[in-house]
Amino acid sequence: IPDSADAVLDGLDPEQREVATCLRGPMCVLAGAGTGKTRAITHRIAYGVRAGIYQPSSVLAVTFTNRAAGEMRGRLRQLGAHGVQARTFHSAALRQLQYFWPKVIGGVMPRLVDRKIQLVADAAAACRIRLDRGELRDVTAEIEWAKVTQTVPADYALAAAKAGRETPRDPAEIARLYSVYEELKQDRSVIDFEDVLLLTVAILQDRHDVAEQVRAQYQHFVVDEYQDVNPLQQRLLELWLGERDNLCVVGDASQTIYSFTGATPDYLLDFRTRHPGATVVKLVRDYRSTPQIVHLANGLLAQARGRAADHRLELVSQRAPGPDPVYTEYADEPAEAEGAARRIQELIASGVPPSGIAVLFRTNSQSETYEQALADLGVPYQLRGAERFFDRPEVRKAVIALRGAARFGGNDSLLDDAVDLPSQVRAVLSAEGWTPQPPAGSGAVRERWESLAALAHLAQDFAAARPDATLSDLVTELDERANTQHAPTVQGVTLASLHSAKGLEWDVVFLVGITEGMIPITYARTDEQIEEERRLLYVGVTRAREQLYVSWALSRSPGGRPHRRPSRFLDGLRPGSAGTAGRGVPGAFGGIERGFTATDGAAAAAGTVGAVGGMGASVPRRVRRAPARCRVCGRTLTGGGELKLMRCEDCPSDMD
Ligand code: ATP
Ligand code: MG
Repeated sequence: IPDSADAVLDGLDPEQREVATCLRGPMCVLAGAGTGKTRAITHRIAYGVRAGIYQPSSVLAVTFTNRAAGEMRGRLRQLGAHGVQARTFHSAALRQLQYFWPKVIGGVMPRLVDRKIQLVADAAAACRIRLDRGELRDVTAEIEWAKVTQTVPADYALAAAKAGRETPRDPAEIARLYSVYEELKQDRSVIDFEDVLLLTVAILQDRHDVAEQVRAQYQHFVVDEYQDVNPLQQRLLELWLGERDNLCVVGDASQTIYSFTGATPDYLLDFRTRHPGATVVKLVRDYRSTPQIVHLANGLLAQARGRAADHRLELVSQRAPGPDPVYTEYADEPAEAEGAARRIQELIASGVPPSGIAVLFRTNSQSETYEQALADLGVPYQLRGAERFFDRPEVRKAVIALRGAARFGGNDSLLDDAVDLPSQVRAVLSAEGWTPQPPAGSGAVRERWESLAALAHLAQDFAAARPDATLSDLVTELDERANTQHAPTVQGVTLASLHSAKGLEWDVVFLVGITEGMIPITYARTDEQIEEERRLLYVGVTRAREQLYVSWALSRSPGGRPHRRPSRFLDGLRPGSAGTAGRGVPGAFGGIERGFTATDGAAAAAGTVGAVGGMGASVPRRVRRAPARCRVCGRTLTGGGELKLMRCEDCPSDMD
């Protein structure tokens, strides 16, 4: 913990220092990925608190994910600033709504809907409209969009046309579904995610006394990732501020990845127009990534078009050079997952902690193949985006058990042999059926195990930070974390969607499934949608500190037709693509690797897949044939089978 307010400023560059010491808004920080935006605002809050200028409870810091909010709280604590509210828009609004509901509306607040998509399906059934799974998802997204843009069902068709939305069904039909969906919610006494913000906005708008009370509480506002604010969140922010403009926002228009949900970088880019006299600070030094990774990120942005791109800032890496990005082409998806998993296993064996590694994909449906591949090798992993950790049944049950043990622990033989806090926790978890070693296989069993392992780790970290802590202190910490949805970090490789990875960083990042159709995703058709996909890849690339692996598979399943091609966004950037004339970009990239099919596990296991590296390496190189395995019976074929071989002679012919 820094010993003074000034010490909080150590380790900030001059521009970051300006952000941290200019304690009154309006202020806007425009900067690229990894330039220390989040760090600058965290230090700003800590400096304000430590210098006695901010009352901690009068600061509201808003971020977009629970994880980011949790990390900010952790950082603030390390800087000696306790008691600051760091929350998502949603959790800040929910807290206010819960508090004011009895007084303003009366009775208890309705509960949050669990499965919104099911509710939309029920609305469709009631309207006798048949929707397939894709349409259901798209209609749900349209309803969400309508709500965050504060569009009522009657105005939906017009608003959607004006916004140029490609509607999944006839707009009149969507409007009807939207209206029935709202009725169903009422009937079932539930509210959804957007309602939390809408109702809070409504209360603050209508009830002057409530608005005054909230404004008296919060004096200083900071918003991270402001490029992804939507009109409803912006409205809420304005209501919190009232006539004041003591607001500091930071963002990177090139990382706008939620515009399909109604978010827009316009509030960020027009900040000075809305707040004349605002201090604007730009940061360009990238502290996160090696020059090789930054070079690729700049290359992606150089091809970007549109308003966000007009404001792009070329990043300048501050770090020593590292390895070149590795590009690997695989025959099929299972092979790609196996290749990544084996490389991860090697990295861990060479000393990289699993928590320093992430596998990022475009859609959550890609996750399972990677879960399986990692589980097969016994590599621990955690899923990101699987929020609501404390709502999981196994976690609830474990917390109840821990609470019981904390209360009656002294009389319980259960804890007799456990002399310290981590062993006590392990003893309680073991009584719940948990084992220190992970179970075989993947899926739900493994996920449950990981949740409890996360609790065991949390206990260990907690005890390390507070050696005299008791089981009941730990339970208090868990309650606090449950209230703020601050999930513990699992000591495993992170599997996450590109969307949920924003703001975060890892030493090693695997960007997988980087093909046409995945990124840009098939349903991205308009120029704006394509640009958003490009930004999503930029977000992915800039999550890596040291080493980046980019891969794709030519077909979906083993033996499938190789019909896929690597993403257009890599054209001119990856070696061997159009624009690079079959050569790597000098000094920037390694060569391309050929991966193996899933049946070639033996070769991959032998660890022969090394970076081809080097300046201007041509492609492909060092392709090693592996002993093939029959895809039907799994028998290994001696004598170096062909990759295209589907089955061995021993398999019955009707298995084709
Ligand atoms: P993103 O756009 O991805 O959210 P960001 O701009 O918020 O990135 P941070 O996450 O704050 O960037 O910082 C990126 C990394 O660089 C972090 O590991 C941070 O600790 C480090 N960093 C930032 N500023 C400095 C500095 N002045 N000196 C050393 N390291 C720094
Ligand atoms: Mg950040």
